[in-house]
Amino acid sequence: MSIRVRFAPSPTGYLHIGGARTAFYCHVLAKATGGKYILRIEDTDLERSTKEYEQAMIDDLKWLGITHDEGPDVGGEYAPYRQSERLDLYQSFVDQLLEKGQAFYDFCSEAELEQMSKDHIEKGTPAYTGKWREQEHWDEAKKRVAAGEKTSVRFKVDPTKSYSIEDGVRGHVEFPAGMVGDFVIMRSNGLPTYNFCNVIDDNAHKINHVLRAEEHLNNTVRQLMVYEALGFEVPKFSHLSIMIGSDRQKLSKRHGATSVNLYREMGFLPEALNNYLCLLGWSHPEEKSIFTKEDLYQVFDDTRFNKSPAMYDIEKLKWTNSQHLRELSEDELLAHAKEVLPSDGLFHSHNEEWQRACLSLLLDKIQVITEVEELLVHYFNNTEIQDNDASKEIMSWETTPQIATYLKEQISNVSDENVSAEQFNEWMDYCKKELKIKGKPLFMGFRFCLTGQDHGPDLKQLIPLLPKKSLLERVSKVSQ
Ligand code: GLU
Repeated sequence: MSIRVRFAPSPTGYLHIGGARTAFYCHVLAKATGGKYILRIEDTDLERSTKEYEQAMIDDLKWLGITHDEGPDVGGEYAPYRQSERLDLYQSFVDQLLEKGQAFYDFCSEAELEQMSKDHIEKGTPAYTGKWREQEHWDEAKKRVAAGEKTSVRFKVDPTKSYSIEDGVRGHVEFPAGMVGDFVIMRSNGLPTYNFCNVIDDNAHKINHVLRAEEHLNNTVRQLMVYEALGFEVPKFSHLSIMIGSDRQKLSKRHGATSVNLYREMGFLPEALNNYLCLLGWSHPEEKSIFTKEDLYQVFDDTRFNKSPAMYDIEKLKWTNSQHLRELSEDELLAHAKEVLPSDGLFHSHNEEWQRACLSLLLDKIQVITEVEELLVHYFNNTEIQDNDASKEIMSWETTPQIATYLKEQISNVSDENVSAEQFNEWMDYCKKELKIKGKPLFMGFRFCLTGQDHGPDLKQLIPLLPKKSLLERVSKVSQ
């Protein structure tokens, strides 16, 4: 039987990087096994779900290249794929459970329920002790509902029964009897709860593998009860390890950006984000750390998940990004830079020939494409001369002011906006042959006079890219 796996986000916010990781695993697992990956929108929390978030999530998944085979935007055999369009189905199953005596209408007041949960925590009494679960109140309950009273429906839990699963990540997981009390499956506003409709849909969508975050492990016991009550086959569950920050706490906004759209804005490549997130909780069979999703179609399987918490480290993500940047062709790199770099910035103010030269020069100096603009701003606008031990040493050589004076004169005579590579070479030759400056004093001297720094990108390539004016300003400062 081929794998059918789903990602089931609630559109109550932007796509979280944890969600992106789950979706990525679902996508590659389906691709690697010839199965299907389904996107289902779980929007029964009407107050918090919005169409804008749904669209934003779909856009982010598309940007990541995590394509689905079935979903609200592409349809499929088991449509609809949006829970708000499936309410009748849930109602029919609620009715079935009510009929079978496995669910009951509950008329307890808020205050009563609060007291029950207080007693449950303090005295260890069952989480629900309301009278409505008893058969003798069934007729009264039905009458009240028939008279139009709105109320919630609870699942009747057997307090003596324990449950277990063989989790794809965690192995055997036991849920002891009495862990949960009678839980709400339908709210008084007629909307089903997550633990109920999630099961109905996984069954209706023929899902046989569930990959989701570890935080849902505790929900699983309620879902197992619903599976059992409705006679549905239980899928294989894999609860993925949580992501933590460097303080070992669950990853949250205080650790930095957690939503995919922010990484997009920060200039990360989608393939790098996928690659990095994939390794937070899964390992490559050949221990590769750089790969594309297409590479994984050959090797991905769900036996290599790791259950220990995965430490999220933005520096590793940046490194992964730098590796993927180097895999791009010249044209792809240019397109990426054009898309990400600010349209009113220095990069965009030059022609394509200049842009290509600039990218080839700076590629090995950057990890994320946005750093190109930062470096340009630095070289274009910052005419400060670095003041550190290295610069003090360079300034102490008698050859440095000689170079500076010579360059100042030469640059002043350049009629174009930029210095050409030929001119740069001629000046170096002159200093070597006529001024007899060689080796470190020559190269470091040139670099320092022209850039104000003791290290940086290849000088011969850099200088023709910079405006003459900025070179002149720096050279003047050194020659003073
Ligand atoms: N809608 C749930 C969520 O966004 C889905 C959980 C699941 O995959 O079962 O967390």
